Amino acid sequence: MIQGYSIDEPEPLLSGWVIDLLNSRSELAAWVDGFGSPLHVVFPEQAKNNYFGWLKELRTVYGDCRIQFALKACKSASLLRAFALAGAGADVSSAQEMSSAFLNLVPVERMSMTGPAKSEFEIRLCIRHRVAIHVDSVEELKRVLALGQTGGGIDRLFLRVRPISEPGSRFGMTDDQLLACLPLLKQGKVGRVGLSFHINDYTVQNRAEQMRSSVAFLRHVRATCLAPGGIDIGGGYPMRYLRTFDPVAYGRGDHWASSAKQGNYPYASEVAGPQHAVAVIQTALADIADRSFLERNRIPILLQPGRALLDQCGISIFAVIDVKNLGSNRFAVVLDGMSFSLSETWFGADFVPAPAIVHRERCTAPQNDARYFLVGRSCLESDIIRWRGLAVESGVCPGDLVVFANTAGYQMDSNESSFHQIPLPKKIAAVRYPCGWKILSDETPSQGGMPSDC
Ligand SMILES: *Cc1c(COP(=O)(O)O)cnc(C)c1O
Repeated sequence: MIQGYSIDEPEPLLSGWVIDLLNSRSELAAWVDGFGSPLHVVFPEQAKNNYFGWLKELRTVYGDCRIQFALKACKSASLLRAFALAGAGADVSSAQEMSSAFLNLVPVERMSMTGPAKSEFEIRLCIRHRVAIHVDSVEELKRVLALGQTGGGIDRLFLRVRPISEPGSRFGMTDDQLLACLPLLKQGKVGRVGLSFHINDYTVQNRAEQMRSSVAFLRHVRATCLAPGGIDIGGGYPMRYLRTFDPVAYGRGDHWASSAKQGNYPYASEVAGPQHAVAVIQTALADIADRSFLERNRIPILLQPGRALLDQCGISIFAVIDVKNLGSNRFAVVLDGMSFSLSETWFGADFVPAPAIVHRERCTAPQNDARYFLVGRSCLESDIIRWRGLAVESGVCPGDLVVFANTAGYQMDSNESSFHQIPLPKKIAAVRYPCGWKILSDETPSQGGMPSDC
């Protein structure tokens, strides 16, 4: 068991490398001393393993599944490179993300530009480099086709479907609009036409149903003598952070300003990650005719997980500046960092998985039933890093480290801000050798060799 967790909350699921680091606190302390607080530590080896794990599971239900990592979930270059070297593609939404994918070794044929609003420049980039373009509306399709005419044609294009389960969404197209695209695509001599969707809930059923209806539409595409290019079932697969989660018990704790902010993320989803994706595909292709249509026409299934592919790929460490006594056994733990570095907090919810407190020196708890609230160093009252107070038996002291596990998916950097002109937190990549850890700056392209004394 790891020390330093709040006694009335479940310990989050941790991978071996995180447990190792929590147990070797001098390592963590040295890194924070060297690179500042907060510090994001990513683990490229985990990214590689996750990708292979996903692929292995997916191939049990369909032969040609292609995973494109959704870049918006984490800006780490070393994780992206690890995915790319393992064979993953990339789901990009801006020229900058595209450039980052190029720089980190993603080949163009594995790239999709899915951003719902693309500038003329971004469309030209896709055409020039033959990156698959995902089109959000008939209007955008017309713009893309016009640019394609002068740019030498369009190789791969996906039409984004408005989900049946989200009729009020502003993204994607209705059936009528999709049908209206077909003659335009024929006229525009587009090479291959696929269908894509992205669903915002975490049920298997909605995604499976959408996939089934997309296969039906692809048959239509085929019947119109267009070459079907793929079925893209998007991202949004839940990730499991906790073995169990009881929202009622969580809400009952002592919360800052007496307000529980647990949000609604399924932190302990029974069917998560690749198992969830497998369940979607299996359910959707229950009809043997649909499966053989896809196989006969060599239609790949594309998946674009962001968060779930990053399971256990990174941690975020904050150093404690001060522990301020607020009276009545309540303490504000002022961290060297801001809530912008944990995006769940930024969305008005807590990042539920509890952080671990790692003591740097001997720390004595002031009272038995003390509650510790983690707050940011900014001048905003609302800069609260953890709304639910922690009950740490050994207390919290200045200099201690607060370690949030499993932060690579969105928590790390999606909403970071250099508020107060404080520089953005640094990211380092950790590589583990039998003799210890080697760290690299996140950007460093070379993974380097094994240290000579290993
Ligand atoms: C955000 C997004 C993803 C990734 O979603 P996750 O929840 O991180 O898996 C994939 N595709 C599209 C179109 C998105 O908007």
